Order: sequence, then C-alpha cells, then structure tokens
Amino acid sequence: MNDKNCLFCKIISGGIPSAKVYEDEKMLVFKDIAPKAKVHLLAIPKTHFSLLSDMDAGSAEAVKHILTKIPEIAKENGCANGYRLIVNQGDDAGQEVKHLHFHILGGEKLNLF
Ligand code: AMP
Ligand code: ZN
Repeated sequence: MNDKNCLFCKIISGGIPSAKVYEDEKMLVFKDIAPKAKVHLLAIPKTHFSLLSDMDAGSAEAVKHILTKIPEIAKENGCANGYRLIVNQGDDAGQEVKHLHFHILGGEKLNLF
C-alpha cells in the first residue's frame, strides 16, 4: 500500500521524476537529488513503510530482495571498489523521508565516521 503524501511513493508512481538506475517489481533505485558522494543512490521498496520496526513479512521479503540486489547495482554504478549503506531511522538520525530507503554511497574514498 502506498501513501499519497509520500515523496518516494510519488517517485514510484511517476508523479515526481527521478533518475532511475534500476527497477523491478519489488524495488526502485534512483540518484539522490543532493549527492553526498560521487555516487549517491537511494534504494527503496515499492511498498510504503518507514521504519524497520514497521516491517511485516511482505516488507521483510522486499528488504531481503533489496539487500540481495544492492551489490550488483552498486558495482554497475561506479562502486566496484566499495560503498557504504546508510539507513536513517527516525528523528535523531535526521530521517527526512518516511519511506524506508538505503543510501548507497561510493565512487570515491569515503571519510571515516
Ligand atoms: P533521509 O534524510 O535519510 O530521509 O534521506 C532522504 C534523501 O532523499 C536525502 O538524501 C535527499 O537528498 C533525498 N531526496 C529528497 N528529494 C529527492 C528527490 N526528489 N529525488 C531524489 N532524492 C531526493
Ligand atoms: Zn512512500
């Protein structure tokens, strides 16, 4: 089920344009509009939910699928030498978009944090 007020649901439906790099029935990957590294992609499930603590069996299946696909998508998009995954969860992490997303960062040597 998608949320009509959610930015990423609008990207999934095509209501808001995005620079897509991969899509299948369960997930979408597109370029972050304000990249924090040379390569900055966002991988999202096509079903709306915000937090890992909201996961049900179906969304857990989608997350498993996303994590299985990310290595090849990262490699094909300039991250053959490594990448970082970030999943912001809630306000203290600064999660702006309440639709679960995996940041994929790479394409250069990343600063340690
Ligand atoms: P977060 O702070 O973890 O919720 O990350 C949200 C990310 O979405 C940020 O890195 C934004 O730059 C990115 N973002 C916001 N709007 C768009 C958009 N229309 N297309 C692509 N990325 C976006
Ligand atoms: Zn959504």
